[in-house]
Amino acid sequence: MIEALRRSVPASLPVRSPSDRPGVSRRESGIAAVVEPASAIPKLWLRNVSLSYAANANGRLAALHQINLQVQTGEFLCIVGPSGCGKSTLLHLAAGLHRQTSGEVLFEGAPVEGPGTDRILIFQELGLFPWLTVAGNVEFGMKMKGVPKPERERKVHEYLRLVHLEQFKESYTHQLSGGMRQRVALARALATEPEVLLMDEPFAALDAQTRDLLHDELERLWAETQSTVVFVTHNVREAVRLGDRVVLLTFRPGRVKREYTIDLARPRHLEDVEVAATAGSILQDLREEMNQSLNERS
Ligand code: ADP
Ligand code: MG
Repeated sequence: MIEALRRSVPASLPVRSPSDRPGVSRRESGIAAVVEPASAIPKLWLRNVSLSYAANANGRLAALHQINLQVQTGEFLCIVGPSGCGKSTLLHLAAGLHRQTSGEVLFEGAPVEGPGTDRILIFQELGLFPWLTVAGNVEFGMKMKGVPKPERERKVHEYLRLVHLEQFKESYTHQLSGGMRQRVALARALATEPEVLLMDEPFAALDAQTRDLLHDELERLWAETQSTVVFVTHNVREAVRLGDRVVLLTFRPGRVKREYTIDLARPRHLEDVEVAATAGSILQDLREEMNQSLNERS
């Protein structure tokens, strides 16, 4: 089955190199320097954003501290960092599900006031509806967006085909494996054709083969649809496999520790030597960060 799926993935991708976009320079190594920021308004812009949660009677827990982050239109941005550093919180802010304590969250230059179909979050728990079929789940977001029925039916068919679940369209989600449910969630999000896809460790629970296929699929869909992706993962190699740019957050409270422009040709694979080498140097920074925070706490 895996072979059959592999064959359906086109060998070549539309060429989308990070150096095609403004604000990014090309270098020989995997990590390139970020040069002057693009003059266009960023798709997403977190300006000096901090967020603290009410923790207990004794005070508040600082989750994010003065985050400055711009995501350009069409960019594939990956965010990595230790567990608890605020990665999910950052995505929730972009999705309009949380409000920052201070600073600004801007979508195309306008403040984010709440959730919107232009920014779709795919999170670990998926949020699929058990009372709807696979097709019903994929259709749901489009219904909410007011997409007419014939178009909804066409897109359900199209996106289920893309994630290789056409033959399961009448199944209910409890009848599917974890990987298949993840693909339903991906199809549902993609079918609404959001401007920004916010993905919170979406493939963390999948077996290696399914994850590899979904990497290929996601990369191809991103290239074809020219959408903007913000992808959170604790897996640095996955971030290098997918991202135009990788942002490393510090241990709690999350701050931007470093940004890396990944200037490797696409399509990439997790096993590529360059991917492994680039991930290795980012991982070193991540380890330093974790050691430093452990020392500070001991
Ligand atoms: P990550 O996704 O990087 O693991 P999170 O964004 O989930 O981190 O959480 C960052 C910090 O904020 C953690 O210490 C977590 O316990 C805390 N936190 C997250 N959500 C809430 C909440 N709703 N209320 C209180 N604390 C929270
Ligand atoms: Mg998280």
